[in-house]
Formats: sequence, structure tokens, C-alpha cells
Amino acid sequence: MASHAHDDHEPTTTGPKVLATSTVSPKVRTIAVVRPSEQQVSYLAATKAGLGITLKHFAKNLFGRRRTVDQLNKGEHPVPTTAFQKALSVVSPVNDIETIQYPEEKAVYPERFRGLHRLMQRDDGQVRCVACMCCPTVCPAHCITIIPEQSDDNGIEKRPAVFEIDELRCVVCGLCVEACPCDAIRMDSSTHAKPVEERADAVMTKEKLIAVSKENGKNPTSIATQGGVGPNWRERG
Ligand code: SF4
Ligand code: SF4
Repeated sequence: MASHAHDDHEPTTTGPKVLATSTVSPKVRTIAVVRPSEQQVSYLAATKAGLGITLKHFAKNLFGRRRTVDQLNKGEHPVPTTAFQKALSVVSPVNDIETIQYPEEKAVYPERFRGLHRLMQRDDGQVRCVACMCCPTVCPAHCITIIPEQSDDNGIEKRPAVFEIDELRCVVCGLCVEACPCDAIRMDSSTHAKPVEERADAVMTKEKLIAVSKENGKNPTSIATQGGVGPNWRERG
């Protein structure tokens, strides 16, 4: 039994250094307390290192050159000309403040950027939307309002009398574009919704949505074939 009790309290190789063990109970031990050094306690070294980092960033942002919006868009760095700039380039070629002077300068949005909605038109200028209601059905923000009406064109059943998108409620998910069966709505305008002062001004009407193409230099027509010919709907005209 005595040997079992001894095994339970075998000294371990890890943990604090044991200076002495009680003769009454091996659980009672005197251990060596490791005190932090004076340098660690004062935090002076850490404060000095932190100040050094702050000063480095300060100098870099004060003297480092800002990229032009062109360089920013192309992912290029400015070429250092003076000896000081060359020396600074070793640390960093540019400063960390990569702001652009908006609205004079504008960053180019990525090609797949989901921009402001636009409604596409047919070759005759009519809106391509056939008021199928797929987009308002799929819209998670319920921000598309469509009131359909009968179309003049015998080949097309309906068209939207009213087509509105509340851009303040839109979550820019792009589901309306995915759901549209006839490429009537797109989000490739490369621009974003304009800031407004009145909530009602954020509602894009059909006319405004059609005008987005022209305002942003986009082709308003689509090469997608709309509708089919003959009894087989897969047969394209
Ligand atoms: S992008 Fe999404 S939230 Fe915005 S209108 Fe389309 S479906 Fe609705
Ligand atoms: S899914 Fe396309 S065709 Fe259908 S209502 Fe929306 S924009 Fe119009």
C-alpha cells in the first residue's frame, strides 16, 4: 500500500522546480517561484518597440508617395526618383494611405462588380422584360415591384406597366439577374446607386432603369434570343 501511495505522488519532470517535499504528506511541497525580470515588469522594452513601429508608419505615410488612381487601378507602384525616395522604397514603395480624391478620381470596379440595376431593351427600343414575376419572387429583400399589363406585341403576352426597384432595400445579391429568363435585367452598369436625401428618390422607376445603360455607356440591347418560333419553344428564331 505504501508503495502505491508513493507511486501516486511521483515527482513529475515538468512544472515548477520542487525545492522540498513534506515528510507528512508528499502533496505538500515547496517550489521555486520564477519571478519576471525587471525588464519584463517595467514594460519599457515593449513600449520602446511599439513607439518604434508607430514612428516607422508615421515616416512612411508622411514621406512615402501616394499612388495615383491610374497606378492604383493597374496595381503599379511609383518609380522612386530621389535618393531619399529610393532609401524609403527599401522599407515600402508606397505609403499606407491609399485614398483617392473622390469624386475627381474614381477607382475602377472589378469586371464582376454587381452595379446598379439596368433594364435591357429590344432592338425596337421596347423593354425586354415580359413581366414574368420571376425576379420579384426570388428577391429576398422584396424590393422589386412590377405591375404587368398586356403587351401590344402578339408574340409577347405581358410587359411591365410599372417596374420599380427600391435600391435602399436591395441587398445586391444578384438573384434577380440570375432568375430572369430573358436577359431583361442586369447589374453590370459598373456604377453604384446614387446617394439620395429622400427615401423615395432611391426608388428606380422603369424609365430610370432603362436610362442607366445610356448614362454609363453600356449597350442597352442583348444578343440573347428572346422567345421561340413554332410549336417547339426550343427552336430559336
Ligand atoms: S439584387 Fe437581390 S435584393 Fe437586389 S433587387 Fe435583385 S434580387 Fe432583390
Ligand atoms: S425576371 Fe426578367 S422578365 Fe421576369 S419580371 Fe423580372 S426582369 Fe422581367
